[in-house]
Amino acid sequence: CGQCVTHCPTGALTFRNDIEKVYKAMKEGKYMIAMMAPAVRASIQEELGLENDLVVAGRIVNFLKSIGFKKVFDVSFAADLVAYEEAYEFKQRLEKGEKLPQFTSCCPGWVKFAEHHYPEFLDNLSTVKSPQQVLGSIIKKHYAKEIGVAPEDICLVSIMPCTAKKFEAEREELEGEVDIVITTRELSEIIRSSGFDLKNVSPLPFDRPYGLSSQAGLSFGKTGGVFASVLRVLEDELGIQDVQTNVMEKGINLTIAKMKDGNTVRGLIVFGLGNVKKVIGKIKNGELDVDIVEVMACDFGCVGGGGQPYPNNKEVRMKRAEILKEVVGIDGLISPTENYHMLSLYEKYLKHPLSHEAHETLHTIYKNRKRINNGDIEILPLPIDESE
Ligand code: SF4
Repeated sequence: CGQCVTHCPTGALTFRNDIEKVYKAMKEGKYMIAMMAPAVRASIQEELGLENDLVVAGRIVNFLKSIGFKKVFDVSFAADLVAYEEAYEFKQRLEKGEKLPQFTSCCPGWVKFAEHHYPEFLDNLSTVKSPQQVLGSIIKKHYAKEIGVAPEDICLVSIMPCTAKKFEAEREELEGEVDIVITTRELSEIIRSSGFDLKNVSPLPFDRPYGLSSQAGLSFGKTGGVFASVLRVLEDELGIQDVQTNVMEKGINLTIAKMKDGNTVRGLIVFGLGNVKKVIGKIKNGELDVDIVEVMACDFGCVGGGGQPYPNNKEVRMKRAEILKEVVGIDGLISPTENYHMLSLYEKYLKHPLSHEAHETLHTIYKNRKRINNGDIEILPLPIDESE
């Protein structure tokens, strides 16, 4: 009906184009750093005639370097870090028996929805920032010093499948971590207008140290990926005997993991905000007893994000999820706990999960926006589903 575009309070649905900001920063001589989300590599082929190219991420690294980016990092690295930190947060809540179930918090569409509609659940949201903001924070706080560049001289460009990530980067408590967010469609536009034929560009690896990721980190790009990664860390730390997944209905899956110590972890994987309403109602009235809830606002997770190429319908999203599975399959490391660059970040700066230093860099706060906005219409940054 188009109402969503006119009413959207975050600007996320106005498809704000930020390409000019990137060129401006380059002209100003900023130290350009790019970082790319997992789901972008599963969809950008559609815009560039590179069907099923599993090394497209590497070609994009090469392209970005050739137009002036000094470093290109992988947001999947930060996804490993998020899963690691979230797993420890969950263990702590379990030990204390409080703030359960723990809801994931990497999706800004969901976080904002919770702030408006379910402020009573804000304490249940994991306080770990999203991978985009985690990497932004590390780069501005620590990496800038390592390379001897003032944080304000760095321009960090985040390439995302998601229009809501533009809003997230501008949240006041996260401001300054990420400078510009461009979507998959905007990156495609930059590539097309440059005249580059990406097919003939050879792939290059992401830069180290924030270019290494496990299969788990890469799987953040589709529904179920965050919970699977957290479970992977718990498995390494506690041991898991058996995992069973039941599809409850479209967009709602229940995974039950039996731990070696006899306990069980019940994870609910939900996509679509209509489904969130359903499950929160059931959690509130005690019908549903779960320990972790993964929420993604878009159908099938970030592969179906609002910044992805058109068409963005059910079939296309399912295909992207399959492509991402194949991309994940070619990566060597399986669990976030194997990501040695992530572990050395703890050695160097963060000490251990949930430390004071980790809280300073990796965690955030949420706001009760229901009260602040006094019942204003809030429309969330969902993509347009062309299949409906
Ligand atoms: Fe953005 Fe959608 Fe992914 Fe949420 S699920 S982070 S709104 S692309």
